[in-house]
Amino acid sequence: MGFGLPVPLLFAPILQQVGTRAILSFSFAAEMCEISHFDEGTLVGVLTTQPLDRLLDYKAPAGGCFLGAFVEVPLGPRKVLGVVWAKGQGGFDLKKARSIIKVLDVAPMRREMHEFLGRVGEYTLSPLSAMLRLATRAPGLMDPMSMRRVFVLGREDPDRMTPARERVIAVLEEHGGLRFTLGELAEMAGVSSSVIHGLVKQRAVIEEATPRDVAYPFLDATLPGKPLSGDQAAAAKSVCAGVASGAYGTWLLKGVTGSGKTEVYLEAVAECLKAGRQALVLIPEIALTSEFLKRVEQRFGARPAEWHSGVTMTERRRCWRMVAEGGAQLVVGARSALYLPFRELGLIVVDEEHDQSYKQEDGVHYHARDMAVLRASIVGAQVVLASATPSLESWVNAEAGKYQRLDLEERFGVAEMPAIKPIDLRVDALERGRWISTPLTAAVRAGLGRGEQSLLFLNRRGYAPLTVCRACGHQIGCDHCDARMVEHRFQGRLMCHQCGETKPMPVACPSCQVEGKLAPVGPGVERLAEEAEALFPEARIAILSSDLAQSARAMKARIEDIASGKADVIIGTQIVAKGHNFPMLTLVGVIDADLGLQGGDLRAAERTFQLMRQVAGRAGRADREGMALLQTHQPDHPVIQAIISGDDEGFWRAEAAQRQAAGVPPFGRMAGIVLSGPDVAQVFDLAGAMARQIAPLERINAQVYGPAPAPIARIRGRHRVRLLVKAAKGVPLQAALATWAGQFKFPANMRLTIDIDPQSFY
Ligand code: ADP
Ligand code: ZN
Repeated sequence: MGFGLPVPLLFAPILQQVGTRAILSFSFAAEMCEISHFDEGTLVGVLTTQPLDRLLDYKAPAGGCFLGAFVEVPLGPRKVLGVVWAKGQGGFDLKKARSIIKVLDVAPMRREMHEFLGRVGEYTLSPLSAMLRLATRAPGLMDPMSMRRVFVLGREDPDRMTPARERVIAVLEEHGGLRFTLGELAEMAGVSSSVIHGLVKQRAVIEEATPRDVAYPFLDATLPGKPLSGDQAAAAKSVCAGVASGAYGTWLLKGVTGSGKTEVYLEAVAECLKAGRQALVLIPEIALTSEFLKRVEQRFGARPAEWHSGVTMTERRRCWRMVAEGGAQLVVGARSALYLPFRELGLIVVDEEHDQSYKQEDGVHYHARDMAVLRASIVGAQVVLASATPSLESWVNAEAGKYQRLDLEERFGVAEMPAIKPIDLRVDALERGRWISTPLTAAVRAGLGRGEQSLLFLNRRGYAPLTVCRACGHQIGCDHCDARMVEHRFQGRLMCHQCGETKPMPVACPSCQVEGKLAPVGPGVERLAEEAEALFPEARIAILSSDLAQSARAMKARIEDIASGKADVIIGTQIVAKGHNFPMLTLVGVIDADLGLQGGDLRAAERTFQLMRQVAGRAGRADREGMALLQTHQPDHPVIQAIISGDDEGFWRAEAAQRQAAGVPPFGRMAGIVLSGPDVAQVFDLAGAMARQIAPLERINAQVYGPAPAPIARIRGRHRVRLLVKAAKGVPLQAALATWAGQFKFPANMRLTIDIDPQSFY
């Protein structure tokens, strides 16, 4: 569908303060009404957030409505949220049509958003209702605008002046433009609320209602940034020129950790804000936002809007509304911020663009990096993809000239990239039940002696990944999933990392009932910490693992403590790889560099390469030299060699050549199909039928693999069967998949998920 018209630049630059709600909605309405105003009583097609696969016809309400208006409509006995999406279809008795209840007091959906949601829906094979849910994930959009009571100076004098009354009036006079709530005013004047109420009665002070959702503080883009180095300045100049052009463009900004990529894209943000357009910075990890918010505050004098799961509901609603009205200039957020209703988006930054968390793997299966590029191309915005270790997809797109590449060659200032060396575990063999080799132990001790921090990296949460009965060999598994239970000793429980189910560690083996024979096998970070405590009794040891913090806030606090030097040895999972700044850290020890190399995942080599380079990049960020040691049984493996030699381009070239030869992404296309249900035979039967009736897929020369039990063959009691579809680039894969899946009837207890460009194969 889509409107097929370019988005006109109708609006004046973003306003600092709001209070312009009426004007904004009016100008939008005026823009739309030429083409799409619907008079009262005419039929309109409304898209709702309910899981229906079609638009519903309603009559326009009194006063009419227009395309893009958010509305409340009756559906059965309920009232639901919707958007006027198209003309009504009709074809039934008009008298039976129900009326839209009301047009909501929120900025209407812009045409570019309408087109964006439609295209993401087509790309990911998701119904539009699911897309609308993604785009309206703020609470209370149907509620009347929430107001709060504030107090301003009135015209009358009070009948009698008291010192308390004088203080209230003095506060209001001093801060002429500001509006205070009762609590704020009482506190600032040092009076009780009855004093203020007394003044209100005499009209010396006036009580007003003002919208609770107010604009975010103004970001001053004219403030100077840090003086940039040559590389940085050149990169910033290019991106800023792109932003100033007002057209679409994507940049791949590659530079090692600490090379100043953030400084460069903050320049682009400044350019964008100066042009009166909005900017969005996507960050892969909530725990990283506080560090980034501080940098924005230093750069622009105030904090931007935040959008992620750690933000309160009221703040979410404020963010959504202000983004739509232009009261938020910059949003820092998680992948779902991409679906915020920006009024005038000019720049999207995807920081750590290679990060896997940008792929959503339930509901709408989308990749935020790719969809950011799509949204920017629709609205005429620039995209900056920043990473030290770009995804192969982005590297190939840059090689092909689709993205423009910018390189920052060196770390900023005196910091050097750490030397990376292997520890050959075939030579420096580990004792049974030990994971820290002699050379690594010595390096940590040396760091302790110099008062520097070390990081021991192991990408495994918990105490031990496996618990085995030494009497009968039984391995403790999850009751609902085809997965082993992981011991978490701090919590004193076994946990399934698939479904989250926990149970206490049994005393006797659940299989042979023999007591006292259950033993942990292999290390997790908790067990590694135990070993480190024994090896370095004088050191302060801290574990950094996503399951050990109660909340995102607690995680932030923990990271800040560590960064300020409150730990000597950090034991961490991949959460430490994601761009935290640890200035005192000089040694990184990777406990098992081979961990990611096993397994059939087509991205195993790429992921290992990225993770190891990222982790190694944690060392030596300030003025101290860093070193990274990789414990490995395969020091000659090409991936390990590429990591050690630092020949990034060589690695990507080799990896690209292999994928091209195999016809796999990014050179071919894939779709992962998972069919699941409670009955294993039923699931296999239907999957078998799907694998046989593939005429629509054969027409595009796609190959179908499977069905096979998924690597995790059961999750939460549901049996899972996979099919994999491979096709050449440039064929209409989605349309073929839709026709193919449309041939089958799926019983209510079965679920089909189609994952375009799958990133993981579980
Ligand atoms: P990256 O995003 O590539 O990891 P950052 O932008 O975070 O790098 O820069 C690393 C460190 O160097 C930060 O502390 C940053 O403030 C500092 N830095 C980078 N560029 C400059 C500059 N031009 N002037 C001063 N400090 C800088
Ligand atoms: Zn489970």
